[in-house]
Amino acid sequence: MELSKTFDSKAAEERWFQLWIDRGYFAADPEKPGPAFSIVIPPPNVTGQLHLGHALNVTLQDIIVRTRRMQGFNTLWVPGTDHAGIATQNAVEKDLAKEGKNRHQLGRDKFEKKVWEWRETYGNRILNQLRRLGASCDWSRERFTLDDGLSRAVNEVFVRLYKAGLIYKDRRLINWCPRCETALSDLEVDHKDRTGTLWYLKYPLVDGSGYIEVATTRPETMLGDTAVAVNPEDNRYRSEVGKKARIPLIGREIPIIADSAVDSAFGTGAVKITPAHDFNDFEMGRRHKLPQISVMDNRARMNENAGPYQGLDRETARKRILGDLKTAGLYEREEKHTNAVGTCSRCDTIVEPMLSEQWFLDVKSMACNAIDAVKDGRTKFFPKFWENTFFNWMENIHDWCISRQLWWGHRIPAYRCQRCDHLMVVAVRPPKCEECGGTDLLQDDDVLDTWFSSGLWPFSTLGWPAETPELHRYYPTSLLVTGFDIIFFWVARMMMFGLEFTGDVPFRDIYITPLVRDAEGKKMSKSKGNVVDPLELMDTYGTDALRFTLAQLAIQGRDVILSPERLAASRAFANKIWNAARFTMMNLADAPQPLPKVAPSQMSLADRWILDRLNDAIREVTAAIDVYEFNVAAMKVYDFIWHEFCDWYIELSKDALKASGERQAAARYVIIHGFDQMLRLLHPFMPFVSEEIWQVIRPYMDDADLAPNLPIAKFPTPRDEHALSDAEALAVQHFIEATKATNSLRAFANIHPGQLISVHLQPNNYTDGSITEEFARLRDELPLWESYLRKLAKAENLKLESYLVEPLGTRFITQRLPWGTIFIKPPEDFDFEKKKEKLELDLKEVRKHLERHESRLSNTEFRQKASRETQEETAQRVAELAESEAHLEQQLRMLGAA
Ligand SMILES: [Zn+2]
Ligand SMILES: [Zn+2]
Repeated sequence: MELSKTFDSKAAEERWFQLWIDRGYFAADPEKPGPAFSIVIPPPNVTGQLHLGHALNVTLQDIIVRTRRMQGFNTLWVPGTDHAGIATQNAVEKDLAKEGKNRHQLGRDKFEKKVWEWRETYGNRILNQLRRLGASCDWSRERFTLDDGLSRAVNEVFVRLYKAGLIYKDRRLINWCPRCETALSDLEVDHKDRTGTLWYLKYPLVDGSGYIEVATTRPETMLGDTAVAVNPEDNRYRSEVGKKARIPLIGREIPIIADSAVDSAFGTGAVKITPAHDFNDFEMGRRHKLPQISVMDNRARMNENAGPYQGLDRETARKRILGDLKTAGLYEREEKHTNAVGTCSRCDTIVEPMLSEQWFLDVKSMACNAIDAVKDGRTKFFPKFWENTFFNWMENIHDWCISRQLWWGHRIPAYRCQRCDHLMVVAVRPPKCEECGGTDLLQDDDVLDTWFSSGLWPFSTLGWPAETPELHRYYPTSLLVTGFDIIFFWVARMMMFGLEFTGDVPFRDIYITPLVRDAEGKKMSKSKGNVVDPLELMDTYGTDALRFTLAQLAIQGRDVILSPERLAASRAFANKIWNAARFTMMNLADAPQPLPKVAPSQMSLADRWILDRLNDAIREVTAAIDVYEFNVAAMKVYDFIWHEFCDWYIELSKDALKASGERQAAARYVIIHGFDQMLRLLHPFMPFVSEEIWQVIRPYMDDADLAPNLPIAKFPTPRDEHALSDAEALAVQHFIEATKATNSLRAFANIHPGQLISVHLQPNNYTDGSITEEFARLRDELPLWESYLRKLAKAENLKLESYLVEPLGTRFITQRLPWGTIFIKPPEDFDFEKKKEKLELDLKEVRKHLERHESRLSNTEFRQKASRETQEETAQRVAELAESEAHLEQQLRMLGAA
């Protein structure tokens, strides 16, 4: 096999992913040995389209799963999708609306069928997109929250919680979306500040002594008022309390009551109380035993309690009522008023508090158990600060309204006998009533909140309630990777249900992913038009490059700022490796397969040095992955491969590769061994380019149990016999620094790349011509790196000087290093004075600009008034100018004119 001129990412992605699946590398087997490592994927909505949040989440999961698999763990990564009740129902309803139909015209059964069809068509789209990312899930174990097994688990949980008295039915005020026609949990309501109006209205007193004036933002609910309330401390109303007022327009009499919850500073200090349409009023109504009068139906149209306004929607009713109040002389005035308005998070319709009978789950004791499990470290958050968010919410948790008036979801397993009204809550529909034997049983119409079933995901997907081998082997799962926005919706519920039904936490670790932002640091949103499609990025840069970029940017607790430059750099990284592999293969054209093994004693310093650096890279990458510092791991892989392996080792081994005998054999062996190990390290990050190259170098490796493919090859571990002594390691470090310094001096003096030069090196701490320890050490090191310096810096002559006297008429250009100074002689025509003048002029100019930008940046007015972009641009410019300044100063120092 040969490597083509350039890396064709798309072809590699298709070829290898299919082959890995066909060979069953990702399939989990509980019978196989190895410690278990398991993850359940956060199931994307079936309605979903891959976005960068998924791409990041799945990439990080795949990095860790691939690493653990290569480390010999028995891994399971369960894929699947969520039926996403309200979201999917809305999507299908939108489709129906295009045909001018709605779900009521279709009826429940036909509508449900329609959603299943929709799911057949679109439900696999998102999973195929995850495959495109290279996700090494066990694709034979794909689950869906509405599949038979998971539905069985849902019914079982519901019945058990009902029998334990934790699930109950109650008539309460709940958030209601009149568009979706369903109850919503507090979490599904968005609160936005809107500017509205505060109306001042006059309620006549029944005793004829005048009016009491109330202020309200919702005049239309007036029809459901059951009291007017004032604060007991409010002297203005002392004589009114206990009297009765008449609701304008409909004339119903209501009491004037005193309650300390009334804010005297709001409006007139007197407020209307509508227990059936306001959460605060509901509470106050309970305290004063006021009736609850609902004036709207499920679509927020005025109902029979609204008298002449029956049939109007809430907005029209408001206008009509305000008009009628004006006519009746009961309208006083109005003013602008800002208040928080609750809207449906799915459709943005204004939510109506409604009195309604719903199913609730008492979660207090489960929440306590979940808090304990995090407090005592059975489950850990990464980054740790998210624990506080979790505690905060769990400590203030309310009973969960679990029923939804939707058609798409798990229907509540409660059956009412139509003959004797007996209610049966059972997992499977009973044939007849257990009380009277009647067969006319009606199942509850409601479905469960979609998070009820996803809350069971970690154990329902493993076969619970059956005691499956998977449940024994893979539960608790090892890790959950998810976004902070669903800590409450999902993570908290999984913790509660997991502990309740399995007695153990659902996962050991929770990694909260950062948020992905665009290149300008803005949150991506459809309305801003800055959403980047990961599929397009994979087409342009290759999947490996996208994955690597995301891993590199995944710093715990910080947002990911994704820019095209970053992606291009990752693609360049893949190309760099590719080119290095091509170079290697060209040099191995006549080499035996496999290569004979070479002992460290036969290797050169460069050979042993790269193997030592490899050990270091393996250690750092492994440690970083263990604590989910994906960025640290990715950067180490990058530095090792690009800088140490490609820039230094390959250069240093070029001569040896072209030589013959032992020297060549050692270089060949080490370059192949190095490639093998670094591709294994790289594989979890860039699975495709690593496999493509590995297949080509594989025949040269001499290993009895060599894996056929990288996904199941062993993850590297450091090897002691490859360690350098401290002295040798220091020698190479000195050599690298000396080479870099010499080459930058050569460039500065414009010396032709082919021209050989003399290099003088003077160690630090020179005192009175006596030989220092530093000097002695460098003198010992010199023979080790002299030949390399000759090659990489074209230094024909390397002199270690205890002190340097410039011969008459000779001037050197110099560069200081932490441990000494490098001197080289510039060409004859090098004009020190002219060069110095030019540099000083440039430096003056740069400093002038730098000063101007810096003062601008520290100006208070600029800080307050300039846009964020302008401020960032200025800061960027300051950084660039400071860099130029440092560079020019450095060059002046080269002239010995600092
Ligand atoms: Zn809605
Ligand atoms: Zn019955």
